[in-house]
Amino acid sequence: MEKKNLDWENIGFGYIQTDKRYVSNFKDGKWDDGALIDDPNIVMNECAGVLQYAQTVFEGMKAYTTEDGHIVTFRPDLNASRMVDSAKRLEMPVFPEERFIDAVVQTVKANAAYVPPYGSGATLYIRPYMFGINPVIGVKPADEYQFRVFTTPVGPYFKGGVKPITICVSDFDRAAPHGTGHIKAGLNYAMSLHAIVTAHANGFDENMYLDSATRTKVEETGGANFLFVTKDNKIVTPHSSTILPSITRRSLMYVAEHYLGLEVEEREVYFDEVKDFAECGLCGTAAVISPVGKVVNHGGEICFPSGMEKMGPTIQKLYDTLTGIQMGHIEAPEGWLRVIE
Ligand SMILES: *Cc1c(COP(=O)(O)O)cnc(C)c1O
Repeated sequence: MEKKNLDWENIGFGYIQTDKRYVSNFKDGKWDDGALIDDPNIVMNECAGVLQYAQTVFEGMKAYTTEDGHIVTFRPDLNASRMVDSAKRLEMPVFPEERFIDAVVQTVKANAAYVPPYGSGATLYIRPYMFGINPVIGVKPADEYQFRVFTTPVGPYFKGGVKPITICVSDFDRAAPHGTGHIKAGLNYAMSLHAIVTAHANGFDENMYLDSATRTKVEETGGANFLFVTKDNKIVTPHSSTILPSITRRSLMYVAEHYLGLEVEEREVYFDEVKDFAECGLCGTAAVISPVGKVVNHGGEICFPSGMEKMGPTIQKLYDTLTGIQMGHIEAPEGWLRVIE
């Protein structure tokens, strides 16, 4: 298979249309067989449930080339099961987990020419999603749904080297107690746009959201979980029922404990404690970990000892180990890499 002639290092993070996408329709209470199709456009009724009441959930993952030349994805079973949880919370039918993985594999295979070569730092981003498609005007769940998977090649996240970022404590809330913060739904992102545009206008890279009930505990950013390193080298991540359970964060906690022999804690983290940590990072599929150098809270500044020039030593080790596992330099735990071809 001949690779597309793209400038892999410089493609950035934007939508680039690839050849095939997977579609399955849910109608009369069941999913059809699904198929790969060519048309990237969707025609739907003006009153479709997704357009009126935002009934849609999604996943984000990537395919890439390992050192030995295989195309793989990372822990797709966890994306499949997370999408089940998201769908149930929005009263959508579940897309079976084995079928989710099969759809991802089929879509990546059909677009293998767009999977960036090993060493480029670029990846093929995979976006599975599902939405209510029949007309809905009275407020209720749709009766018909579409599940789709498309792919788009994306450039290296840390182009030109890793630089720690500055984040601010947001005055806006991300997720209500007993709300939808723990599922991957477009609605959580729609209402975060004003907060992120405001943060950028004020010169910050990201928002740190606090728990909405008491505004004393650290939750997450708009799209990544926090991981902190204590001064005695323990790994701490916030525990909360309104955080989206990041697969990257769960994998990093495993790596910290089982590969690096570090103590790990998932517990409530009070904002008052943040000043005492040695390192801070944001975990998600796109970056794996991006280091945070500074947290600003209405003029008050917390500067982590790891500084603004590079990743702290422990976050660097975590990053190197997990990316080493992903690229096939370090042996992966059973089942973490799904070989596509
Ligand atoms: C997707 C997402 C993450 C990161 O999850 P990964 O599975 O690691 O990509 C974190 N927080 C939110 C709100 C998300 O939507």
